Amino acid sequence: MIKRSFLGFVTPKLKHNIVPGPVQELPVPSKVTLLLKEPQNGGNASSLKAGDTVRTGQRLFASPDSAEYVISSVTGTISDVAPYMDSYGRKYAAVTIETGGQDDWEDEFNKEPSLDTALKFFEYAPGNPSFRPFADPEKTIRTIVINGMDQDLLITANQYVVQNEAADIKEGVKALEKITGADRIVITVPENLVQQANTTGAELKTLSTTYPDSLPHMIMKNMLGQVVSAGDTPEDTGVVFINAEAASAIGAAFETGRLRVTKIVTVVGKDGNTTNIRTRIGTPLRDILQACNVSINERDRLILGGPMRGTATYSEDLAIGPDTDGIVVQDEANSSQVTDYPCINCGECVRICPVKIPVNMLVRFLEARLYEDAASMYDMECCIECGLCSYACISRIPIFQYIKLGKYELSLTETAEAANE
Ligand code: SF4
Ligand code: SF4
Repeated sequence: MIKRSFLGFVTPKLKHNIVPGPVQELPVPSKVTLLLKEPQNGGNASSLKAGDTVRTGQRLFASPDSAEYVISSVTGTISDVAPYMDSYGRKYAAVTIETGGQDDWEDEFNKEPSLDTALKFFEYAPGNPSFRPFADPEKTIRTIVINGMDQDLLITANQYVVQNEAADIKEGVKALEKITGADRIVITVPENLVQQANTTGAELKTLSTTYPDSLPHMIMKNMLGQVVSAGDTPEDTGVVFINAEAASAIGAAFETGRLRVTKIVTVVGKDGNTTNIRTRIGTPLRDILQACNVSINERDRLILGGPMRGTATYSEDLAIGPDTDGIVVQDEANSSQVTDYPCINCGECVRICPVKIPVNMLVRFLEARLYEDAASMYDMECCIECGLCSYACISRIPIFQYIKLGKYELSLTETAEAANE
């Protein structure tokens, strides 16, 4: 539940919803769309073509020599392979598969827990874990944190998993030990899930339910006593974060011999009520909203993710990915629209920022697209992407979106400069 303070001087406390509702299982949709990253080395976006038949659990590659793949969540026939660009300009092939009848499972999954297996089969698992840091010779990963608390308000997908799939997480912990050789596996949960988390075999840490304490940088500082330097990631400090849903999916895969191809999503309707559903990865938003009786009118806001950190999107034809924990629909009348009003220097963003960034100054440089100055003078890269500044901004400046764009643009510049050296 979001609690907004009515006293202007008091920092509002935002609390997570810690009681996950039951999960409604959706039937197999008539089609799914999976986004396949374009190979980094260029070349064909995809060697897949309309008319190809695919099986459930089959790996679909961008090109024969690419490391990028998706896992087909259904059995059926590819009906379209179209270029797709996300809001940052990253390119994908959108692979649409018309489903047909029963699942015919691909049996390529190798049941031996190893890093090679994880890289081959789990990079598209629900929860979207990445094992690439373990294969990076420049990184030494000693600790895995299984995050059993969702990273945005109102979303309860991972809490549902801890509450109901602790046995699968336990198998996941055993598999992660073999796959990665990590010395330490920690699970973080709110107080009400301690009993279930205690059965997983991971070291237990109890999180406060105050937002944004479940974000990785905050867990690093508050639970592990490690501060991530500006511009670094937890992996640079030797820690990898994996969502509880991913740990459960990995455990279940080794238990059953089949990859999990479904995703739990919390749907937040216009009235703020939430419904948890489980559906195939790649299900169109339209099917999910219909199943939850949520209708959309023109100018309503549709958000992929949660209310604080999610990304507004434009079409119900888009599909959920392995990292989609939430879908939020806001009525036009009740959603605060962003504006191009100027900053009035009220300081609310500075007071609410958990890492004390001078956001009022930062936003001026971001609006002028001076990203290098924003990073070097106003700590842009210290931002932990909680979205609290946008929430507090009286001028409704989309600060959080500016910061994410600024970081992305700066990373492109740095990559290009490194390539030219
Ligand atoms: S999103 Fe805003 S409030 Fe949150 S850490 Fe970044 S600058 Fe601070
Ligand atoms: S909250 Fe908005 S208006 Fe106030 S100082 Fe920050 S950016 Fe400016």
